[in-house]
Amino acid sequence: MRTSHFLLATLKETPADAELVSHQLMLRAGMIRKLASGIYNWLPLGFRVLKNVERIVREEMDKTGAQEFLMPSIQPAELWEETARWEKYGNELLKITDRHEHRFCYGPTHEEVITDLARREIKSYKQLPMTLYQIQTKFRDEIRPRFGVMRGREFLMKDAYSFNLTEESLKEDYQIMYDAYTRIFTRCGLKFRAVAATTGSIGGNISHEFQALADAGEDVILYSDKGDYAANIEIAEQAGLKEGDKSPDGKGILKTARGIEVGQVFQLGKKYSDAMNATVLDEKGQTVTLFMGCYGVGVSRTVAAVIEQHHDEHGIIWPDELAPFQISIIPMAMYKSARVKLAAESLYKQLTEQGFSVLLEDRNERAGTLFSDHDLIGIPHRIIIGERNLDQGKIEYKNRAKKDAELIDNDKVMAFLKEHACHFSSSRT
Ligand code: ATP
Ligand code: MG
Repeated sequence: MRTSHFLLATLKETPADAELVSHQLMLRAGMIRKLASGIYNWLPLGFRVLKNVERIVREEMDKTGAQEFLMPSIQPAELWEETARWEKYGNELLKITDRHEHRFCYGPTHEEVITDLARREIKSYKQLPMTLYQIQTKFRDEIRPRFGVMRGREFLMKDAYSFNLTEESLKEDYQIMYDAYTRIFTRCGLKFRAVAATTGSIGGNISHEFQALADAGEDVILYSDKGDYAANIEIAEQAGLKEGDKSPDGKGILKTARGIEVGQVFQLGKKYSDAMNATVLDEKGQTVTLFMGCYGVGVSRTVAAVIEQHHDEHGIIWPDELAPFQISIIPMAMYKSARVKLAAESLYKQLTEQGFSVLLEDRNERAGTLFSDHDLIGIPHRIIIGERNLDQGKIEYKNRAKKDAELIDNDKVMAFLKEHACHFSSSRT
């Protein structure tokens, strides 16, 4: 991709209404633009990152044997009345009426729709356990949408649902998802903690939240400084625990930290299957009610959480797997030097052919402007091509996360990048 024809919508000034660093940087880097309160456009730069989070989520879900599918975002009221959530869910549920006076909602979550599907389509214990997932737009009419896509009204979620014959089988699937979430957030480059959690309007008994650690986080967690105990503040307070207490596991004392909830897993048990009569026939031909689990990842929120943890005073510093482009090439004074232009174009062609996603800086702008734009958008690997270095047979390499640049022999650039910049098969070029 060439910057001259890319919708690179960087801003010099920090937008006045953005409080959080991630929100400021997403606006300044030109990743997102607000359309209405809590509703955002994802510009090409941001969209590429969003797709990378999706790719990681998809790969890790597929590894567990979960099947991807897609449910509609508009859901009929009747299903929500079966579980009584049409009233109970409250004002976050955006209700809509069509021209025939039929009532619908824009889905904030999909337990009702999936349970309806399961009661029709899953017939026998022989098909169990089974897990289905989708990556889809949700709408919650949040009372205070804020911090950009961190707490939006429209946002992207991965939601998975497991169906099990027994509680033991549910617990096994829960652990499989818990482990997959650990891999997902590790690959996203997040420092996070899985904490015991309350189940809120989704319901069920056992639940964990995955909390990305960040001072800007809205949630508070309590964790043992030496042991494994970790819980969100509601669970800890229910157990009568506070900061400074001895950890319930006997190891260390409790400390508090702030977190951003990037995912949550629930053992729903029979809450939805009982209410909606989702059953299968067991070995003896008897009707049994399904056990269910549900598992959510805030795909769009994860992008913001990663920026909270990966930035400096100049801009974003993408972990390799999430970067919108892996490599940027900045030719110096390309419009004056035919040699520089040729070297840049030929490296761009070679790297692209090798499957790297590369952003070629071909705008006729001052070097200072180009460098500050590239610092802001945070591409991990940068190649700078200039006349003087070319005379020595060299080009400059700079890693976004490091302070100093280094000179590399021109003929070793490809080998160097193959070693240092990872390839991701489904990245776009
Ligand atoms: P929160 O407590 O932050 O309101 P939640 O517990 O209501 O979130 P879940 O029902 O657990 O959310 O949804 C699964 C995931 O979807 C959350 O872990 C979070 O990452 C993401 N998510 C939920 N609400 C929003 C939102 N308004 N904007 C962006 N992401 C969200
Ligand atoms: Mg939650």
